Amino acid sequence: MPHESPRSARAYHRQIEEALNDSFQRRTLDKFAVEYRASRDKVFEEVDGRELIRRIADVKDAAAQHIEELYAQFKTEAEKRGVVVHRAADAAEAREIIAKIAAENGVKSIVKSKCMTSEEIGLNAHLRAQGLDVCETDLGEWIIQLRNEGPSHMVLPAIHLSRQQVAEDFERVTGEKQDREDVQRLVKVARRELRPKFEAADMGISGANFCIAETGSIAIVTNEGNGRLVNTLPRVHVALTGLDKLVPKIDDALTALQVLPRNATSQRLTSYVTFIDGAGPCAKSPTGRKMLHIVLLDNGRTKAAKDPLFSQVFRCVRCGACANVCPVFRLVGGHRMGHVYIGAIGLVLTYLFHDRQIAKTLCQNCIGCGSCKDICSGGIDLPALIQEIRARFGREDGSPLPAKLASLAMKNRKLFHTLLRFANFSHRPFAGSDGFVRHLPMVLFGKQGFKSLPSLAKKPFRDMWPELQKGAGQDAGKPKLKIALFAGCAQDFAYPQQLVAAMKVFAAAGVEVSFPMEQTCCGLPLTMLGESKTAADVARQNVAAFAGEYDAIVTLCASCASHLKHGYARLLGDDAAAAAFSAKVMDFSSFVHDKLGLDSAVVAHGNEKVAYHASCHLCRELGVKEAPRALIRQVAEYVPSAEEESCCGFGGTFSAKFPEISAELMRKKLAHVTESGAKRLVLDCPGCAMQLKGGADKLGLDLKVTHISELLADNLRDAK
Ligand code: SF4
Repeated sequence: MPHESPRSARAYHRQIEEALNDSFQRRTLDKFAVEYRASRDKVFEEVDGRELIRRIADVKDAAAQHIEELYAQFKTEAEKRGVVVHRAADAAEAREIIAKIAAENGVKSIVKSKCMTSEEIGLNAHLRAQGLDVCETDLGEWIIQLRNEGPSHMVLPAIHLSRQQVAEDFERVTGEKQDREDVQRLVKVARRELRPKFEAADMGISGANFCIAETGSIAIVTNEGNGRLVNTLPRVHVALTGLDKLVPKIDDALTALQVLPRNATSQRLTSYVTFIDGAGPCAKSPTGRKMLHIVLLDNGRTKAAKDPLFSQVFRCVRCGACANVCPVFRLVGGHRMGHVYIGAIGLVLTYLFHDRQIAKTLCQNCIGCGSCKDICSGGIDLPALIQEIRARFGREDGSPLPAKLASLAMKNRKLFHTLLRFANFSHRPFAGSDGFVRHLPMVLFGKQGFKSLPSLAKKPFRDMWPELQKGAGQDAGKPKLKIALFAGCAQDFAYPQQLVAAMKVFAAAGVEVSFPMEQTCCGLPLTMLGESKTAADVARQNVAAFAGEYDAIVTLCASCASHLKHGYARLLGDDAAAAAFSAKVMDFSSFVHDKLGLDSAVVAHGNEKVAYHASCHLCRELGVKEAPRALIRQVAEYVPSAEEESCCGFGGTFSAKFPEISAELMRKKLAHVTESGAKRLVLDCPGCAMQLKGGADKLGLDLKVTHISELLADNLRDAK
């Protein structure tokens, strides 16, 4: 076993703590994440990345639906060219097929180039058990083989190791003292050790990135010369790959090739792209031609292809980008954010191909920031797949008690709101006069102690409404626009001041506001907990509550906005009323900037230095980037900070489940803001406010954290 995979939440938390204490890995992944983003952006400037991704998705979606035809065509064409094509139903059959090829050809030694599918089926151990000498020849793969570890990244398998650790391993293998600082010399040692292996090998095993049905050829994308040595020198070549690598035409592979290297390693093209079109000449073979076998693995792929949601996994080109941008991977590394496959897709493939229990644990560790979906070469909606896996576990295994209780309470709006009012009453002894709870007993606070918590408001927004309604523009002549306000639980009960500030802005700009009292939680926390049935009930309640005629349904919560706009369609299917409701939903910044418009008669420009935190749901799920920054510039001095669009670590229930990770993400975000010199940080989401306001308070920072509505309200001309 390459590394210990978690079978229980307790074991997983222990492994996470260890990973967080690995300072080398933390530094390396941090540096890599920042440099990767910058270099990737640059290399995508010259192509229409979104269009290419859309084309890859279309081709792969169609391939998933025509897998049998493509396989038959590929097999026919490849066999015409002297190739033997095998199909393996599962990992065991694939291992047996390859072991049999080795036995029938009198193979003793095998060289391998990088092949994640071979990791998927545990091939090396099986072949070694048959007495075969199996040697990985990709530098990173060779290093981890020497350590008996699995890859910690699909493209950079040894990224978790320092040169000193590698030098130690090389000393052990060669029996020679190594220079621990000279990387080039270490590379030469690897080359010297591996050359004789290539020369002696009877069989080469590679993967294949594309299997092209129209020609029966395969394409292999690599950056090291070892791949070609593996494919050319030995007399037998086995290419092992998944059925998901079938594409109809060479043009489809060429389209994907414009994205794969750019997304994987920020290269226009990798150093080697090899197309193998049939069994070529081979001096070592008794027939004078290469014995070429292609093994296509199913192992759950045809079942996934039939699933309307999970068929998306066919779009994966294994670029590894979903790990590169994952904030959790960046902190804990691939051995803790994956099983065999790494990153967001690793969580999904663990569920589809490997171990249900491990998948159940790992899938909890997705913060739902959407970075993976945003960058994926195939546009896979990875957060939706992970959410669906959680929901399936909830349905199949029964929900854990906290999820069950949340579901019971939230299903009934009146009960839920009564409980929130009771919570306000019960936590008052711990609340300070400034609205923070800093000193809950350890049994309640525990690892959550990294931030101060907001105390619930003495008066929720809904109780203020009868009074506020008087200034809500309903009696003040013809309004410019009529909206309905969706409060969301966090603002209604913890941060009503954010909504009150918005009401001031609306009043100043001539907007008539309604507040339907029957509205309840948007249901996103229920979806995150896998309680999709109650989430759908709650969604229906909200759709009914907002049945009136409005120009827009406005919410100040980015997470609610994203869920109301996109999540309801997933929960309620093609319900017409829900679709009409979702179409009207707007986040506060977009509404104020794009639809309403604030002129200088309404707001003034001040000198305050203001930084912005882009909430994940706003900047990625809703694609809103410019509106909030433009609003800040309109009333203050906007101070950009590093990694403005990186996750703050809240993630709804995530911060309660993984406080150790949540705390690290929060600290990094606040460090960037502090470095910017800003005196105020604004955001669009009460969840992010809870995280960053509470964190700033706990860290004693001289930083005001507010919603963007409060910044605007503070700069209203009438407020001066
Ligand atoms: S899921 Fe997308 S981002 Fe992740 S490895 Fe596959 S193609 Fe790349």
